[in-house]
Amino acid sequence: MDLSFTPEEQKFREEVRAWVKENLPHEISHKVHNALELTRDDLQGWAKILGKKGWLGYGWPKEFGGPGWTAIQRHLFEEETALAGAPRIIPFGPVMVAPVIMAFGNAEQQKRFLPGIASGEVWWSQGYSEPGSGSDLASVKTKAERQGDKYIVNGQKTWTTLGQYGDWMFNLVRTSNEGKPQTGISFLLLDMKSPGVTVRPIKLLDGGHEVNEVFFDNVEVPAENLIGEENKGWTYAKHLLSHERTNIADVNRAKRELERLKRIAKSEGVYDEPRFRDEVAKLEVDIVALEMMVLRVLSAATSGKNSLDVAGLLKIRGSEIQQRYSELMMLAGGPYSLPLIREAMEAGWQGNFPGGNPALAPLTSTFFNMRKTTIYGGSNEVQRNIVAQTVLG
Ligand SMILES: Cc1cc2nc3c(=O)[nH]c(=O)nc-3n(C[C@H](O)[C@H](O)[C@H](O)COP(=O)(O)OP(=O)(O)OC[C@H]3O[C@@H](n4cnc5c(N)ncnc54)[C@H](O)[C@@H]3O)c2cc1C
Repeated sequence: MDLSFTPEEQKFREEVRAWVKENLPHEISHKVHNALELTRDDLQGWAKILGKKGWLGYGWPKEFGGPGWTAIQRHLFEEETALAGAPRIIPFGPVMVAPVIMAFGNAEQQKRFLPGIASGEVWWSQGYSEPGSGSDLASVKTKAERQGDKYIVNGQKTWTTLGQYGDWMFNLVRTSNEGKPQTGISFLLLDMKSPGVTVRPIKLLDGGHEVNEVFFDNVEVPAENLIGEENKGWTYAKHLLSHERTNIADVNRAKRELERLKRIAKSEGVYDEPRFRDEVAKLEVDIVALEMMVLRVLSAATSGKNSLDVAGLLKIRGSEIQQRYSELMMLAGGPYSLPLIREAMEAGWQGNFPGGNPALAPLTSTFFNMRKTTIYGGSNEVQRNIVAQTVLG
């Protein structure tokens, strides 16, 4: 198997690298390289820069205004942006709901929603999970009742990532209680500024406000916001989940964080310690193996095969790797990496840090934050069940 890139692909990589160097604001890449907190303006600012270039929807085909890149080009773009210290593209719009609108939305919906996603102007949130309906997603209870030319939505979503910024939300709603639970679900696009929508923060272990509860109290949603057919939402939801799980693997971020781990280990004097080096080497091998798997999924997606099964594998390995590098960073810092100083996540923090190495200050927050990765996007236990049933047989 030839794993090297062609001269055209190398040239493409260099073009992306040069453009990112020119256009990625330094204050943003500084925050990313040092694991500092990114504001809404940082995240959306970068999204808009990419949008202007036509690269926010970097996985989109040309017919919908995307660059029409191959799987390899997409991978190279992700790698170059991650290594340069660009923030992760917030996936809910360009990576998750856009492919559903392209595949199952009508021409009117495509014209209405895709440009705002491609430009980074409109912030989307994901309304799948509910209290009691996470792993068992097909049991969602949020009800959408058809009344003339609109739906009346009542219920609650939870764990809505960055929902405090959301303009729009794509939701799984119950439109029927007949038959199997999966057959009564619809996929509805909801304007979060509608009367009756309440967003409440959930504070996480790391002290940050990353997720929310969202309540719907008689929210009116025009029926034209229904994607595809009523009660067929489960099919569309699954289409989206393969994109979500592949995205969570985030192999290029792992490569960047591996370099950060090495920097921390060197500055703390443990990099030459053989046992520590063994652990770093094992992590590096796992990251390379994950990268090979990502390339396989991307090429399967290009040839039109459903990559949902392998996407589960990617999600498991990618999330475990994210937790592992955050653990090794803590180990490198030893007791000095323990204090949880939330303010240390802010750029320009001037406080004192025990041990004197400010690179250790955000480690506890990152460590806590990474605990989420084996839960969200479908927990790893559930992914293992799926892999066992669909891949191993
Ligand atoms: C930080 C974060 C961000 C999130 N963002 C979003 C978002 O933006 N939008 C959204 O819709 N959702 C979001 N989620 C929700 C996420 O998808 C769910 O948390 C996840 O699907 C698990 O569901 P649950 O929390 O209800 O846990 P449960 O389903 O109650 O599971 C509890 C435990 O039981 C285990 N378990 C459950 N069923 C089985 C089984 N059959 N076999 C073996 N073990 C099982 C699970 O692995 C888990 O350990 C987010 C979650 C987190 C933590």
